[in-house]
Amino acid sequence: MPKYCLGLEDPAGGESRPCIFAQDGNGGRAQTSSGKRHCALCSLENLDQAFGSLVGKGNLQRQLKHWRRVGSPTYEAAFALGALAALSAGEQQLLRAKAGERGKFWKQSSWLHKRRLRLRHFLLGRPIPVTNLSPRSHRYLQTILARKGEGWLLHYNLARLRKKEPFANVSSKHNGRTYWRGRPADMRKGRSAWWRIRRILKAKCVTAVARGPPFDDEGLAWAMDEGILQRGALVALSGSQESNPSCCYLTEAGDSLFFTRLSGRMTFPTKQLASAECSVRNVLGGKVLGIDMSEAQRLLTDRGYVWETHLLCYASILAPLVLDTCLQRAGFKLELWNKHTQWPAQATGILQIRGAAQTKFWAALKACADRVYMLDCFLSEPTLITNWHHALQVNETYAVVPVQARDTH
Ligand SMILES: [Zn+2]
Repeated sequence: MPKYCLGLEDPAGGESRPCIFAQDGNGGRAQTSSGKRHCALCSLENLDQAFGSLVGKGNLQRQLKHWRRVGSPTYEAAFALGALAALSAGEQQLLRAKAGERGKFWKQSSWLHKRRLRLRHFLLGRPIPVTNLSPRSHRYLQTILARKGEGWLLHYNLARLRKKEPFANVSSKHNGRTYWRGRPADMRKGRSAWWRIRRILKAKCVTAVARGPPFDDEGLAWAMDEGILQRGALVALSGSQESNPSCCYLTEAGDSLFFTRLSGRMTFPTKQLASAECSVRNVLGGKVLGIDMSEAQRLLTDRGYVWETHLLCYASILAPLVLDTCLQRAGFKLELWNKHTQWPAQATGILQIRGAAQTKFWAALKACADRVYMLDCFLSEPTLITNWHHALQVNETYAVVPVQARDTH
């Protein structure tokens, strides 16, 4: 006498639902194999067992395939109401594929349509892209080639191989025969050599940047023109601390800026205080690393002030005076700047007190050619300011001037 499944077990211990997974797909109860109280689709335990053996798995797959072929709703019910619902989406997809369902993939996202191009690149190499070097980058390249210093050969070969692209007028000799238009093998060799050199140069650029300031501005501008480095990218510096991660920002115009920002873990008052030191570093391009506020802190605590509240409330964050004393040690000076129509020509950069009464903080402004960037250490990257006249007008502005430059006035 055949035994029938007792129905879907409720994992929470409630009443079980009647089984609907009969082999014929008409919605009746399923017959169970010897000794089992439930079918594989009504009990997670039995499903697990079925997956554990090749025979059990095969039976299940065959069953699903059959339901699908005869168009029975039991097929979908097995996934939605049966034990298969407990499987991951990937496992379900695999079972559906075994049952004969087609995958729902976009042809556009498949790599298959790229096959022809891939094959051509494989046979002839990836073409060497054309670049448009600025006069500045051109000069840089000329000096590198003329100086013949370390690594010049890479630059030389990069230029030499690019000249040959598209390798149409290159002649070569092989096995006593002259190929006037070059052989595909030569083309492929030349092109892949070019890409290899480019990869080496990219790695060199990134390590040089990660080493920290001063950055090789000319070299970086060339790398951006060449497409080796991307404009608008942030390259993290290797030695930066976790509290204020530093990086090199590559601007859209091809300049490189040192930028350090505050980590999100600090409390707001700590950030306010730290914004001063961060902004000074941003103005000086990371050159001065030893600026610390401990001296000012000691001065104030000696006189009986709670230094944080004193500096935050009475002297608009850190008094410009405190910053000035710090800067003097590095050979710079703060100057109050009132002329909002004019950018201080001799200044290394500008420090500003921004924000509303209780949320004031220090931020830095830097000029690159005719563009002005705000280095706000609360933000994740420098921002281009289109209307810097306005920015100088509304915020308390100090120019950071080298001491010698000020004396020659
Ligand atoms: Zn069942």
